[in-house]
Amino acid sequence: MRLRDKHGRDITDLRVSITDRCNYKCVYCRTGNEGAVYSELPFADYLRMVRIFVGQGIEKVRLTGGEPLLRGGIVEFVRSIAQLRTLSGETPDIAVTTNGHLLAEMAQPLKDAGLKRATISMDAVDAEKFARITRVANGYDNVLAGIRAAKRAGLEPVKVNCVLLRGFNEDQIMEFARFSREEGVVVRFIEFMPLEEDRVWTKEIVVTMDEILEKLNQFRPVRQLPNTPSETARRYTFDDGLGEIGIIAPVSHPFCGHCSRVRLTSDGKIRTCLFSLFDHDLAGRMHQGADDSALAEYIHSVIGQKEVRHHIGEPGFVKPSRSMVHIGG
Ligand code: SAM
Repeated sequence: MRLRDKHGRDITDLRVSITDRCNYKCVYCRTGNEGAVYSELPFADYLRMVRIFVGQGIEKVRLTGGEPLLRGGIVEFVRSIAQLRTLSGETPDIAVTTNGHLLAEMAQPLKDAGLKRATISMDAVDAEKFARITRVANGYDNVLAGIRAAKRAGLEPVKVNCVLLRGFNEDQIMEFARFSREEGVVVRFIEFMPLEEDRVWTKEIVVTMDEILEKLNQFRPVRQLPNTPSETARRYTFDDGLGEIGIIAPVSHPFCGHCSRVRLTSDGKIRTCLFSLFDHDLAGRMHQGADDSALAEYIHSVIGQKEVRHHIGEPGFVKPSRSMVHIGG
């Protein structure tokens, strides 16, 4: 039986965080303070959980974190996931979300192991602004090299994620439009969500979809491209068809009604929504000796409880019990 929640949404997309460590400290994500406690499981544990999920109808597996490329052994892990078969007998669609810092060396081995696509986060096409946001000096060149290596390796479409923050990088919209056209990558602007470790989110910092579209149109007229319903981004190109921009607008234009995602945290807990107030301890049950069918049954019961939508910006909004870096974006 496939995974379906009680609101009738089919769940086909699993995001697995394989570490909550990160070598960046992006201002909208992590705290600048030291001393956080991290958690990781052996790859064999993730693999067993992924296998059970895939056996229940998951078709896409995205590895994330934290920074997934910090985990030695990720290439072998990808190779093992590529051996699994979905319910329709296909190889799962395996993707990674990474800050790209270590990707230049790893893109080709990951591709050879079975990785299909890469999404790379880059919040400015300007080395100084990039350093101010990531709080890491000299990262920009590495990330650019990582993006180019992903292109060369054929991890297509290469997507570049940019979280826009007023006061930091809202002036980068046109620069990224140029970047998409010149580098042949999809650039996706993401509205800032209240999921950061340091509680700095306000509505005012969010650069909304309407503002982004206005700026893009000043650069060149944009036209919308078709979407699949569960796609998070609304897709656009320019009047001459060169370049692709996605806008992910969970704050101003929520898309929960078509959500097909479930997340597994690096300590093996299921999260049914980024904004869940609860975790569901799959790894705990596994470590207590539950067999595959008991774990599959548990996954179904948890998916059944998936939240209908998030409540960002509404009165009484309660921040989730974990921040993005500890959930897996
Ligand atoms: N370290 C990897 C990376 O940088 O892509 C993977 C993990 S990161 C948490 C995944 C994605 O979440 C990144 O594209 C990041 O920009 C985005 N992200 C993190 N915090 C966010 C927030 N508060 N609002 C919106 N997007 C956020």
